Amino acid sequence: MYEPRMRTKSMERFVCSKEPPNRSESLLRDSAKRLGISNAALEQIEKPYTFIYQRLPVEVEGEVINISSGIVLHNRARGPYKGGIRIASDVNIWETNELARLMTLKTALADLELGGGKTGIRVDFEKIYGMFKDRFKLGFYPFCDMLKDHIMKEFVDHFVERGLVRIYIPAPDMGSSGREMMLFYNRTHDPAVVTAKPEGIEGWLPGRHEATGFGTAYAILKYLEHIGKDPSEITVAIQGFGNVGSHTAYYLNDYGCKVLAVTDFYGGVCHEEGIDVNELMDYARENRTVKGYDDKHTIDNDTMFRMPVDILVPAASGHVIGKENCGELGVRLLVAEAANMPVSYEAFLELKERGIDLLPDNYVNSGGVIASDLEYRQGLGGTRYSRTQVFDHLRGRFDEMFGNMLEIKDRAGSFTQAACDIALRRIYLAMKTRSLI
Ligand code: GLU
Repeated sequence: MYEPRMRTKSMERFVCSKEPPNRSESLLRDSAKRLGISNAALEQIEKPYTFIYQRLPVEVEGEVINISSGIVLHNRARGPYKGGIRIASDVNIWETNELARLMTLKTALADLELGGGKTGIRVDFEKIYGMFKDRFKLGFYPFCDMLKDHIMKEFVDHFVERGLVRIYIPAPDMGSSGREMMLFYNRTHDPAVVTAKPEGIEGWLPGRHEATGFGTAYAILKYLEHIGKDPSEITVAIQGFGNVGSHTAYYLNDYGCKVLAVTDFYGGVCHEEGIDVNELMDYARENRTVKGYDDKHTIDNDTMFRMPVDILVPAASGHVIGKENCGELGVRLLVAEAANMPVSYEAFLELKERGIDLLPDNYVNSGGVIASDLEYRQGLGGTRYSRTQVFDHLRGRFDEMFGNMLEIKDRAGSFTQAACDIALRRIYLAMKTRSLI
């Protein structure tokens, strides 16, 4: 694929809008200063190579609805573009770009031979359901599944036609799952074309489904070991109970932490003595929300954020902790970013000032892409990994990443800055070696 070298300003002029200020660029600028990387080189690292806008016309009941989607291929200095497909009502090109940049930083921190990319598909399911519900007998969720299938089939067709197969390797992100990934396999019959394929599909990886939550819990465990705390002394609140939030709760509970509160988009539950995580998982699987699990002990998200707990795990959407609510957080020890970019740059600085640690997204939630990397290589090479091997591999990678961060944390200023320094140095070296800088 042709990858033009472009100047930031020329790209922004072309897109006719300026990239909003964002955390990864602020962190990268700080890191570049510490590492002595020039502004010109930094610009090559910060900006994406390719933006693709893709209109996805889908037919519902004889009417055509146009869905907008965008693919950002950010950087492949270290390997193929890798990153998930986000399906949400508020995604836009700049957010997709920032998520793609984060994937470049994530794969580099985990030392995977992968680059960074991302897809955003903007769909307001509630609105579209509202337009058609009188004509349909389908309930909301079956309607969403059907619409998503139509949209994804259209997306996969364009993806294949554009020759993105094995150039950009997608995976699930917010709003998508193995079900959607299967469609890439159905169209190509290539197990290396996509990761997080559902169980039983050629090249699927045992443990990939739980990997992000497993990794998040293990990332937190490493931190607790480091500060000399036993998990049984630790209380936790978790925002989000989808794939990542629920598995994080499961494994933290397994280590002995007490999960006091969980919220999702629709509601929340709080048990002072600790939630029965297994029971809540069963409930949420059935009802697609935690709302209604225990009507006597509900909690809303703002109240949960103010609750005094040792660890707060934002595991839902991005941008949920900013300077407007950071001062009110009740957390005492640690914010662990299981979601991508939940904490703004200003809030990161404020937490640091208050002595609350922040474990960054590119470390905490990297279990997903680390497992994806194994799945991809399994698809390329035909090797098969067991669930035990996958979890051992994840633990090994987290041990290494945490060790690497600790080595330079004091010099860099925090875990977040250390993680960025490590990733930036690796990307810079790869680009330099390949004469891309
Ligand atoms: N969407 C996940 C992330 O943000 C997984 C990406 C992947 O496995 O490629 O890390």
